[in-house]
Amino acid sequence: MPEACILCRIIKGEIPSKPVYDDERVIAIRDINPQAPTHILVVPKKHIASLAAADEADAGVLGEIQMVAKKLSADLKLEGFRLVLNNGRIAGQSVDHIHYHLLGGRRLAWPPG
Ligand code: AMP
Ligand code: ZN
Repeated sequence: MPEACILCRIIKGEIPSKPVYDDERVIAIRDINPQAPTHILVVPKKHIASLAAADEADAGVLGEIQMVAKKLSADLKLEGFRLVLNNGRIAGQSVDHIHYHLLGGRRLAWPPG
């Protein structure tokens, strides 16, 4: 786990956060720079640099993330939502620890930018 990884530091409590979801394997926090009225990052506690770097053993926690997103969307009564993962700089990934963006609370255009 890289010392400087901002999500690992949040998970370890070195950077204070108010998780909206927290279990053994997954944490969810509000994005610091929200792109929609609801913008939550759903994150595996294991440091995995990207989806491209994930392996078969990570399939369970990546599946759990979808169930957490479903639960949060229901808890927050989102009419619809989008779950986005950016992989690689060209696709907009800026933090090298897998995180899924849960976006909702407004109409979301398609195709995305
Ligand atoms: P991505 O560009 O897909 O790698 O997404 C990284 C996201 O992390 C961006 O939406 C940032 O706004 C968000 N972010 C960066 N630092 C923090 C932080 N300390 N707390 C919450 N969200 C953060
Ligand atoms: Zn990390």
